Amino acid sequence: MSADQPPRRHHVVAAVATTAEVLAHPDLDPDMLAPWEHRRLTRIRVQARRDDVVAARLLLRLCASRFTGRAPDAHELVQFCPECEQYEHGRPSLRDSPRTGVSMSHAHGLVAAAAGPGAVGIDVEPSTRRPGPMAVLRRMLPEAELRAAATSRDPGPGLLRAWVRREALLKAGDAGLPLLEWEDPGLGATAAVASAAPVDVLPAMTAPGHW
Ligand SMILES: [Zn+2]
Repeated sequence: MSADQPPRRHHVVAAVATTAEVLAHPDLDPDMLAPWEHRRLTRIRVQARRDDVVAARLLLRLCASRFTGRAPDAHELVQFCPECEQYEHGRPSLRDSPRTGVSMSHAHGLVAAAAGPGAVGIDVEPSTRRPGPMAVLRRMLPEAELRAAATSRDPGPGLLRAWVRREALLKAGDAGLPLLEWEDPGLGATAAVASAAPVDVLPAMTAPGHW
């Protein structure tokens, strides 16, 4: 990321990347994570899964940096769960910028993050993933989404998109928000962002001369 990028305070900054790309990013380092985040990581047994979690938390800091204009390591991430009234899990926020909405997602070597004005939620899944079983989807997805998917020759992609949209809305904590949904064929990723603000999706990390 070049230092002369102006902050984009009225837009959501969103990004999708592979875990490997984020971990190799020159402006990001796992040392940026807080001690409590490192503590939580030690409970994850599978190395690949741990890498996904680290990468998601780093990508969140990069998106926050693009949104606020501050350095990625200037942001202190906090999480609070209102149900258990406990910190260190639940919806993330920035201690230094409480009105900035932030969100992150990880799935099998893919990560996504977003930062913007107000509530925001992001979700990513591998495009090959097929959510299910149908009994579960019938409980979780709106009737219209299920009907639309059922009428197509291959309902799988439609159901996956519906699932990703639902997750993005859940993470934003507001089911009424507009959604932006896209597929990145290069990454094999299907993603959605829920936000009232316009969304800028950062170009692929592998694009020349960017980030
Ligand atoms: Zn909880």
